[in-house]
Amino acid sequence: MTEKTDVVLIGAGIMSATLGALLRQVQPNWSITMFERMDAAAPESSDPWNNAGTGHSALCELNYTPQNADGSVDISKAIDINERFQVSRQFWAYGVENGVLGNPSEFINPIPHVSFVHGADNVDYLRKRYEALVRHPLFDTMEYIDSPAEFGRRLPLMAKGRDFSDPVALNWTDSGTDIDFGSLTKQLLAYLGRSGVSIAFGNEVRNLDKQSDGSWNVKVRNTRTREIRTVNAKFVFVGAGGYALPLLQKSGIEEMTGIGGFPVSGLFLRCTNPELIHQHEAKVYGKAAVGAPPMSVPHLDTRVINGNRGLLFGPYAGWTPKFLKDGKNSDLFKSVKPNNVFSMIGVGLTEMSLTKYLISELLKSQSGRVVALEEFIPRADGRDWELITAGQRVQVIRRKGAGGVLEFGTAVIAAGDGSIAGLLGASPGASTCVSAMLDVLQKCFPGEFTGWMPKLKEMVPSLGVKLSENQALFHEVWDWSTKTLRLTDNTPKLAGVAQN
Ligand SMILES: Cc1cc2nc3c(=O)[nH]c(=O)nc-3n(C[C@H](O)[C@H](O)[C@H](O)COP(=O)(O)OP(=O)(O)OC[C@H]3O[C@@H](n4cnc5c(N)ncnc54)[C@H](O)[C@@H]3O)c2cc1C
Repeated sequence: MTEKTDVVLIGAGIMSATLGALLRQVQPNWSITMFERMDAAAPESSDPWNNAGTGHSALCELNYTPQNADGSVDISKAIDINERFQVSRQFWAYGVENGVLGNPSEFINPIPHVSFVHGADNVDYLRKRYEALVRHPLFDTMEYIDSPAEFGRRLPLMAKGRDFSDPVALNWTDSGTDIDFGSLTKQLLAYLGRSGVSIAFGNEVRNLDKQSDGSWNVKVRNTRTREIRTVNAKFVFVGAGGYALPLLQKSGIEEMTGIGGFPVSGLFLRCTNPELIHQHEAKVYGKAAVGAPPMSVPHLDTRVINGNRGLLFGPYAGWTPKFLKDGKNSDLFKSVKPNNVFSMIGVGLTEMSLTKYLISELLKSQSGRVVALEEFIPRADGRDWELITAGQRVQVIRRKGAGGVLEFGTAVIAAGDGSIAGLLGASPGASTCVSAMLDVLQKCFPGEFTGWMPKLKEMVPSLGVKLSENQALFHEVWDWSTKTLRLTDNTPKLAGVAQN
């Protein structure tokens, strides 16, 4: 017999958890069923060790502030990312105040966000970046530092043994964050459970069939008993991470025509030496090597996981044809369809720099990885670092002309009738989960969205307003979310050393 539910959420990662919580708030009477193929919450990209935990708000990531041909710095992308992060902060603050979320320090902690460059040309770029950003209300607390003494005071681990005849510069903002997206997901899932959402772990969605009334039959297999059941839903959200692509392909919606995916795994060096971990307290982002893709920007990251402090460096790229860490080697091959084969071949022929980058990364030994780390920590010793495999990203490939183009962002794909939507891509990812899921609500529920607006504005007071153009509102929501999320004092939380 086919069970019926209003909403099916596929995957227990940050995206489905966020969408579930938003829906519970605006439409508490809808029945919601979540399926997760693994036996745990947030086991894939949203797990804290599977991503870098940076609350991406474009304070430190140089790929969001490219330099124009005339030497000026384009900050439009940085403003957009920062605005999106403000949306997340507000929803999380609302969640803490209203019993949706628990202790904020378990998922968000303040940590300086820092851009770091060396070499005269790069220093010149970073000064221009600072001058462009600091004039903007969302970035007006940024500092520019180029004195070796101040560099050494703020980043002692990075200063020790550094040859300062090679000029250095930093863009420094104190109000950055480290986020444990696994812990945040678990808090949201606990709320969903408390509010009557059915969450079925160890249940893998195998197929999606559109019915004549516009609803979807979702075929689910219990991974332990292998029993198959069918659940009928009026709306399906495919928050399956890397498996969103094959599931959306199975749905047969025309919006997937020409879309393919290319998997890239992330590897990090994790510090095992407590002394080093305590000598660094910042997320420091450098510049990607020429020709390297944006997700390869090297960074040295303080992490706060389970109330303990850790240190990561990376990412290095790995490669496997799997679309999830726990995926199958046939994933990439099976995703090639008549409608996307030319997009994929096109990308294969044009993205030579990505191919070269991946080959060079795959050939890197531990000592090669330490050489990259030495740019940040000149006296790095490989024995203080262990290699860990982070999450799997599936970069979106779209049709362009006769070929295809590789995208590095996050894309919401929704059917024209709004009955199904999914999220593809990885960056800026989890940090912008709330604006991505509001986008899903707006695209898929145009009829209800206007009626939901008052509740949505209660959760995200700046909804529909550009904070960069409304400074009074920006200060109001900033002060409120900073206080509610307890982002003013981090000292007691940074005590121990994080363990896997
Ligand atoms: C190396 C790396 C570093 C990153 N760093 C950052 C960062 O610093 N900051 C940031 O904001 N973002 C970062 N991201 C991106 C961020 O991790 C992702 O955008 C985010 O976690 C995606 O959440 P999700 O819920 O879509 O997917 P996931 O967390 O992957 O969840 C998808 C879930 O769906 C389940 N699933 C899959 N198929 C099925 C099925 N058929 N049936 C049932 N369940 C299924 C999976 O088991 C999984 O639990 C990073 C990503 C990577 C890989």
